[in-house]
Amino acid sequence: MNLNWMALAVPFFLFFMGLEYLVAKWQKKDYFRFNNSVANLNVGIAERLLDTFTVGLFYFFYEYIHRHYALFDLQPGVLGWVALFLATDFVWYWYHRLAHEINLFWSAHVVHHQSEDFNYTVSARITVFQALIRTGFWSILPLIGFPAEMITTLLILHGLYPFFIHTRTIGKLGWLEYILVTPSHHRVHHASNPEYLDKNYGDVLIIWDKLFGTFVEEKEEAVELVYGLTKPLESHSFLWQQFHFMMELFETVRRTPGFIPKIKVLFGRPDDIDPEIRDQLEKRFLSRSSVHATSRRFRGYVLGQLIGILTILFVFLLLEKQVSVYHQTLIALFILITLVNCGALLEQRQWVFYLEITRACFLILMAFPYLTNPLSVSLLLIITLLLWVYFSNLQNRYLRLVYGTVPAK
Ligand SMILES: [Zn+2]
Ligand SMILES: [Zn+2]
Repeated sequence: MNLNWMALAVPFFLFFMGLEYLVAKWQKKDYFRFNNSVANLNVGIAERLLDTFTVGLFYFFYEYIHRHYALFDLQPGVLGWVALFLATDFVWYWYHRLAHEINLFWSAHVVHHQSEDFNYTVSARITVFQALIRTGFWSILPLIGFPAEMITTLLILHGLYPFFIHTRTIGKLGWLEYILVTPSHHRVHHASNPEYLDKNYGDVLIIWDKLFGTFVEEKEEAVELVYGLTKPLESHSFLWQQFHFMMELFETVRRTPGFIPKIKVLFGRPDDIDPEIRDQLEKRFLSRSSVHATSRRFRGYVLGQLIGILTILFVFLLLEKQVSVYHQTLIALFILITLVNCGALLEQRQWVFYLEITRACFLILMAFPYLTNPLSVSLLLIITLLLWVYFSNLQNRYLRLVYGTVPAK
């Protein structure tokens, strides 16, 4: 059977998250909050999922640049690998620094910094938009002359390392602090305390920060680190997390008169965006719920969804090559809707009920190829919709069951 062993990354990372959770418990520290961890994992699930559709594209892109525009012909020897590693880490430093300094790039990277907790689940907060922008930066590597196979292999290893620096359970690491980006250095990067802002951009080596003047050491006796954005998002909505800054940026561009000033906003610094704009957009697009469900049943339901989609994602990635495009698309959409659903549940949204109906429709569509008679599928769809319309009080019952009460609209 032709299996995609890269799928093992899912249980691999989950194992270490579980381990960190146990270590934190043992250290009697409260590093994991339920809603926060679920929201972090949701972002990561979407990225893993969409990766399956983009990874081949990225390879083709590197291959194309290498074949047509490579400046040198670099070969995979020891020197070649060392050079590639240094080049990758150097490009990462600049990609990451510019992702913080330029609005257009920050609109994708901001998602990585929204978590107000700091643990391994935060490392999952990468979006497909960020992957796209990063690929733009990586394209300098085939241009120099590194072959696409070398780049993709190194990027996998290079992408593995940062997972392990998102933790509060590990203190300082002695002499390694001078060379590598350690958990201590990366805690500084995620902290929003004024003295730590926009520091420690490195991925594997800390030397670039020291070289370009962005290095700051974590002071152990200093005030406690505050994680997250300087203006906390305070929302677990999957869509709001992904798109709020894009909307803020769009709104700022819209309000700026003149073409050149508009472009300047896109490439300007995030600090220049008026914080009032987010408040105004939140009023328009993000209604905050007064209900905060914390019951065991509610948590159990959210956790059940999470375990469910993680299992589906793992099997989907493992059998990727065996699944038809029809089912790949439907499963991907099903998972994405579930992620929105999970976020909406954490936000105690009423419309989560409609997502449940949509998911049911997707399940029926998935069964479509196995049903010999297309009429039966149409009938199933119609019955589902009729049931929903007929039992409109089903929604209240559902909401009461999940949240313990019916939240205001
Ligand atoms: Zn960052
Ligand atoms: Zn990070």
